[in-house]
Amino acid sequence: MSARIARTFLLIALAAGCNKDSGSKAEGESAKKSVKADDKHATSEVKPGSHEDWCGEHEVPESQCTRCNPELIPAFKATNDWCEEHQLPLSQDKIHNPGLVITRPPKGQ
Ligand SMILES: [Zn+2]
Ligand SMILES: [Zn+2]
Repeated sequence: MSARIARTFLLIALAAGCNKDSGSKAEGESAKKSVKADDKHATSEVKPGSHEDWCGEHEVPESQCTRCNPELIPAFKATNDWCEEHQLPLSQDKIHNPGLVITRPPKGQ
C-alpha cells in the first residue's frame, strides 16, 4: 500500500516537472520590452499625466519624451507639434520658446 502511494507521489512530481518546463517557454514568448526603472526615468507602467510620469533628464512627461521614446515622434508630427530643426515637439522646444515652462504634475493626482 505504502509503495503504491510513494509511486503516485513520484508520478505527480514528474508531471509537475513537465508543466514547469512548458510554462517557462511560454513566459519567454510573452516577455515584454524591457522596462526602464531608474531615478531619472519613469517606467512604462506609470499613469500618463501623473507625478510619476516624468523624465527627469529632459524635464518633460516621460510618456511624451521623444528623446527617450522615439516611437512617439510620428504622433507629434501628425499634429504639427514638431520642430524639424531641433528634433523636438514644439510644445517641448525650449530652444524656440525660451519662456516655455513644463511643470511636473504634483504628487497624488
Ligand atoms: Zn527623456
Ligand atoms: Zn525648435
